[in-house]
Amino acid sequence: MEYSADVHSIECPKCGHGMKEISYGSDLLIDRCTNCEGIWFDHGEVSRLKSKWMGDALDTGNPSAGKRWDGIKDVSCPRCGLQMERVSDPDQPHIYYEVCHEHGMFLDAGEFTDLAHETIGDWFKGLLSRVRR
Ligand SMILES: [Zn+2]
Ligand SMILES: [Zn+2]
Repeated sequence: MEYSADVHSIECPKCGHGMKEISYGSDLLIDRCTNCEGIWFDHGEVSRLKSKWMGDALDTGNPSAGKRWDGIKDVSCPRCGLQMERVSDPDQPHIYYEVCHEHGMFLDAGEFTDLAHETIGDWFKGLLSRVRR
């Protein structure tokens, strides 16, 4: 996977606000919007999320604020600008996320905490295999 040089200055795909890098532990780095507090995960980062508590620790946004942004349907990937696919969770269909199958995924504030999957890496692989065609 190759990213452009300004890989660390992405804009929030939902609200267009700047995003802030949050590092967690030694090798996990995600981008969280400073406005709507949605979280962008690069694919490589999701696979490093070994367990759910790691994601919960990152998802500190207000779920009711996140729900406001959940209604936005046209969301472009912050890496490539192509429209992302809106995917609902097969086990928890009230949860939607936006996925670019090349680059990563975006969760509104509170959505990660809402996910009940304990093995995030496997869950994400399953998600990607459904999005890919
Ligand atoms: Zn935002
Ligand atoms: Zn993309």
